[in-house]
Amino acid sequence: MTPVQDTRKILTHPHPLLRSACVPADVGRNGTAVQAASVLAALLAMDHPLKLVNGLAANQIGLDKRIVVLKRFPNRYHIMVNPEVVSSRLTIPSIEVCASLPGIVRMKLRKYWMRVRYHEPEGEIQHLSLFGSAAFTLQQELDHLDGRLIID
Ligand SMILES: [Zn+2]
Repeated sequence: MTPVQDTRKILTHPHPLLRSACVPADVGRNGTAVQAASVLAALLAMDHPLKLVNGLAANQIGLDKRIVVLKRFPNRYHIMVNPEVVSSRLTIPSIEVCASLPGIVRMKLRKYWMRVRYHEPEGEIQHLSLFGSAAFTLQQELDHLDGRLIID
């Protein structure tokens, strides 16, 4: 196995950081860009044969900042600093797994469509509309930032 840095280790339940709410990141600060890059690196490094994990929150790698990375197919990554849901619609069931809960599958009620506002690591504000699995994934990551897991 290749050795990895601590910040690229995926924390698993019941690690206390997975249960604590993350604090807003300092938008535009270099440290925030470095932390966001760490979350992206951890997601890229995740070797999941079925590629079911398409998002990661900062506290999953031990950083208590409101940063998430969302993978969208085929190979697009959205790095979101201080993401906020602007609006959402239509609650439907979603079957979910989580890198912090190996071997666990849960049905969650999620919004099918959502619009989110966030900062890029350099500070620029973005808006993004998501639906289906991308929206479900982001909702799981936003739950992580508030210390919630799919087993709740
Ligand atoms: Zn998760």
